[in-house]
Amino acid sequence: MAERIYDTIVVGSGPAGYTAALYAARANLDTLVFQGFEAGGQLMLTSDVENYPGYRDGVMGPDMMDDFEVQAARFGAEMRLDNVERVDFSERPFKLWAEGEEEPVLANSVIIATGAKAKWLGLEGEQRLMGRGVSGCATCDGFFFKDKRVAVVGGGDTAMEEALTLSKYAGEVVLIHRRDEFRASKIMLQRAQKNPKITFVTDTIVEDILGETSVEGLRIRNTKTGEEQTLAVNGFFAAIGHEPATSLFKGFVEMDEGGYITQREHTMTNVAGVFAAGDVSDKRYRQAVTAAGDGCRAAIDAERWLEEQGEAEHAEDPAIWTEEREAGAPTA
Ligand code: NAP
Repeated sequence: MAERIYDTIVVGSGPAGYTAALYAARANLDTLVFQGFEAGGQLMLTSDVENYPGYRDGVMGPDMMDDFEVQAARFGAEMRLDNVERVDFSERPFKLWAEGEEEPVLANSVIIATGAKAKWLGLEGEQRLMGRGVSGCATCDGFFFKDKRVAVVGGGDTAMEEALTLSKYAGEVVLIHRRDEFRASKIMLQRAQKNPKITFVTDTIVEDILGETSVEGLRIRNTKTGEEQTLAVNGFFAAIGHEPATSLFKGFVEMDEGGYITQREHTMTNVAGVFAAGDVSDKRYRQAVTAAGDGCRAAIDAERWLEEQGEAEHAEDPAIWTEEREAGAPTA
């Protein structure tokens, strides 16, 4: 029997990965998703999502990712809860090894949607109170802190941006930075400094997050004087940067100095047939809806590219089309 070669393999299972899989499978591409052990991506760590269009009453992050998965699987995308351990993109078909397996899985195109993670300080309370006052995204969670006092940790542009976003909701934002010089661009720093709701606490590190079931305060220490104190806050936002999950692809796919994958032509990377979608190549927007949009773009790009190579058969699957016609769904 000839070795199976998927039309496309999606690596990652956040909004970008599942949307890419939905579009690819619905375009009748033979599609496999490597979901990874932590299937669902960052939204699995979120509670209420209120800014994803279509859910008029909001949705829990894990429920939303469940919807994404089921929708993609409905059109035939195959799901594997495995991590990819190694890849070889030096020739086609591309090779991807699932963790612990000797034989690679083959594909004519690959969509990388492994996402990025907010960096954390490594405090025990960060995991324990995640989604209960601890957050890594002001745009996502700022709304829950109306008129409250919140802390942001960091001294770069992300920290300034997070503090400015939070100032629209919170009563007070305390920006805590471990030095008294800032990595942030002058303009962002000045904007934050001018904002009457933002106070700066410099030369200070956070040692502990206090609270049993929600954030009640922080134990902070001045690095110059050694003085410790408790700061009463209801929210803790880590804003010390993000880390794209791209180490697996180093040496094959072009990245910037931060490790974000470069999209060369639309969503295609420097390797023809390898595409990138979502936070793995986006340090600007980082939203579920933008990642989903990017996943759609990557699948369309992959489909067109495969067609150009004469590799996508693109035969209509009568079962799907009949089902859709019966359900009265648009077929475009
Ligand atoms: P960044 O520039 O690397 O800044 C990270 C900040 O977090 C630094 O101030 C660093 O402190 C601090 N930090 C790191 N680890 C820490 C720890 N363990 N404990 C306490 N503090 C810690 O990262 P970023 O702010 O995410 O920015 C990344 C890139 O994206 C930059 O090029 C930035 O300009 C860009 N960006 C642009 C915008 C915009 O233009 N709107 C928005 C966001 C990001 P030290 O300074 O002491 O090292």
